[in-house]
Amino acid sequence: MASHQQVKQYLSHWLQLGKRIVIRNGEEFRQPQPVIEGDRFSKAFEDCWQEVIAAKAGTCYLEGTDQTIAELLTAEWIVEDCARCEMPVPMRIQGSPPTCCPCTDLPTWPNEEIPRPRLPVSSQTHLHDLCHRLTQTATPEDS
Ligand SMILES: [Zn+2]
Repeated sequence: MASHQQVKQYLSHWLQLGKRIVIRNGEEFRQPQPVIEGDRFSKAFEDCWQEVIAAKAGTCYLEGTDQTIAELLTAEWIVEDCARCEMPVPMRIQGSPPTCCPCTDLPTWPNEEIPRPRLPVSSQTHLHDLCHRLTQTATPEDS
């Protein structure tokens, strides 16, 4: 099953691309911005996440998808990277794969020109990434 952490990351990635979270069975939308503040998720996003996983929010799902957040947290679902755009997408463990990725209604995605959605990074991890990237610039990257 997808863990709370995975589902949270899945939502945070798509919110960074401008998707909204549909809550209360389609009556309301949530689009906390910014999603990330420094090395952590923003208060707005954390509040939204708490609202989404609370039972009183009713059926919640990412705009453009059929899988509810509650479904994703059951044993039938996992979160994997999309083959087309490498964003986290819900996949059914058994049976047919999802018919589409949330990226299908984003004509501008995938886009190599804009920064990819990211996770909050601690400065320690960030430094490590930076060093890693610096050592990589020595070799030409195929994008
Ligand atoms: Zn995709």
